[in-house]
Amino acid sequence: MSGGTGTARHADARIPGPVGARSNEPTAIRDRRQLEGIGRAIDGWGSSDGQGSRRPELPWRSTRDPWAVLVSEVMAQQTQVSRVVPAYRGFLDRFPTPSACAASPLGDVLRAWQGLGYNRRAHNLHRAAQAVVADHRGRIPADLPGLLSLPGVGAYTARAVLAFAFESDVGVVDTNAGRVVARALAGRPVRPGEAQRLVDAMVPPGRGWSFGQALLDLGAGVCVAGTPRCGTCPIRRRCRWASRRRAGPDPALGSAGVSTPQSRFAGSDRQGRGRLVDALRSGPVPARRVSSVVGWPDDAGRVERVVAGLVAEGLVIADRAGGLRLP
Ligand code: SF4
Repeated sequence: MSGGTGTARHADARIPGPVGARSNEPTAIRDRRQLEGIGRAIDGWGSSDGQGSRRPELPWRSTRDPWAVLVSEVMAQQTQVSRVVPAYRGFLDRFPTPSACAASPLGDVLRAWQGLGYNRRAHNLHRAAQAVVADHRGRIPADLPGLLSLPGVGAYTARAVLAFAFESDVGVVDTNAGRVVARALAGRPVRPGEAQRLVDAMVPPGRGWSFGQALLDLGAGVCVAGTPRCGTCPIRRRCRWASRRRAGPDPALGSAGVSTPQSRFAGSDRQGRGRLVDALRSGPVPARRVSSVVGWPDDAGRVERVVAGLVAEGLVIADRAGGLRLP
């Protein structure tokens, strides 16, 4: 295992004690040893035959290519897995390496992004590929600072690449993992830094990949939003919220990594932006058609604002006559 990331598993970060723990609570999480025990239980559950056979066949789980893992993680942000799988395959066929992506016009990358929405992510991925070529000799960095320096790569994505491509012993905290941390470990809402430290401390040595997958699966399939399926949970006897018979508010609400609902799409500027980029994938749009393509033929001010935003971001190029095309 690569380890060597300089991240919290090997750091002397203090694991915060539980807030509001009752002294006679048999399942309280108090020290690093207990966290490691829970980590092993989650890892063992994820590696068991039964759980292994239930695990969805996702193409990025059978690769350790850091570029492929990065692409899958960026695509999966805010997009359903069922839409990501075909796009992921098509994208990697077209851009099998960061160098291939970096050498292509952004317009080609946006075309390969069709169906995923949030086109800004495609732009960031293109910029990240260019940074990898310019600053890292075409190789995805294998350390946290290097990954965080790439455009569009935040704390979650950087750690996901470390764990799922380089098999580093770092914790990966997404929405689902954040829910498990709040309910099982803390029994109360947790902040992002705290959730990260707790998960980092749970990673069994040398098991960063499998533990990370298991934790995400646990949150996605067992410790689900709403009513969790505690009867099938491998850590139910050590879960703080379950030990209280799930009394009181759900600790996951308001916790780190637990997403807030997205704003309404229908009628939003985002919808107009998407319609325009979709049309531009097929070719340039002349000025006289822009308003109708965006979807607001009677609202010139709004169309102008949306187009100006796309042009300023570099996603769209305007000619002197007001016609538009992809870069
Ligand atoms: S016991 Fe229930 S609430 Fe606790 S971690 Fe497991 S599924 Fe979630």
